[in-house]
Amino acid sequence: MITITLLGTGSPIPDPNRAGPATLIQAGEENYLVDAGRGVLMRLTAAGCGANMLNGVLITHLHSDHITDLNDVITSAWITTFGKPKPLQIVGPPGTKEVVDRILHFLSFDIGYRIDHHADLNDPPDVDVIEIESGNVELEGIVKISTEPTEHRPVHPTIGFRFDYKDDAVVVAGDTIPCAGLDKLCVGAKGLVHTVIRKDIIENIPIERLQDVCDYHSSVEEASQTAERAGVETLVLTHYVPAFPSGQGEEWKEIASQHFSGRIELGDDLHRVEID
Ligand SMILES: [Zn+2]
Ligand SMILES: [Zn+2]
Repeated sequence: MITITLLGTGSPIPDPNRAGPATLIQAGEENYLVDAGRGVLMRLTAAGCGANMLNGVLITHLHSDHITDLNDVITSAWITTFGKPKPLQIVGPPGTKEVVDRILHFLSFDIGYRIDHHADLNDPPDVDVIEIESGNVELEGIVKISTEPTEHRPVHPTIGFRFDYKDDAVVVAGDTIPCAGLDKLCVGAKGLVHTVIRKDIIENIPIERLQDVCDYHSSVEEASQTAERAGVETLVLTHYVPAFPSGQGEEWKEIASQHFSGRIELGDDLHRVEID
């Protein structure tokens, strides 16, 4: 069984009830965080997982809403790891290493304060970054992780992740329009977690900067068609733009069901879906 927890179902638009994009994937004893948006550690804690329990942090792309709290993950993993240092594994597209290096630079005063203050803290955060665009992600866990490029231009490169555990597989697409890389990742998978926006609503809001988001995200219809094409059993929608009030996602589900015949899941932050 693979458990999906939608830690943050929001978007760049601040929302009092929705944290930024982040998804927790759990299988066996392992915990993987996909993206690290606004408030990720509050939600991770609510899901019963600590930063020091993460087997990997997987970044789909370097848009601010997906990485804004990555610094908090790095700091919290560092100061809550006792005894032998265990590197925090971060995986992302090319550019991720530079972002992590800059985060560590931005944190350098704090890192100095903590090393000076705690006798048992002698080294800066131990962070290991893997940059990848396609293929198997070499982490030490039992869960097999692979990635393929997605399509979110001008944001480039961007990637989606697939998690295989025993007979189950789940794909986390990130922000993308329908594309060959995502289709490839979804072959034989049981679950697909997909970012969605309601183009039918946004098209009627006369704000150009909002209109722009339509050309590099999937609509509910497009995400559902991707899921149907791949034959997945469960489609999990997240990253709602514009977000619906708590408990009022029925219309989104209804639209998805016109294009996808399987199980459709969506909801508030901490919505949990089991795949088996
Ligand atoms: Zn994005
Ligand atoms: Zn996004």
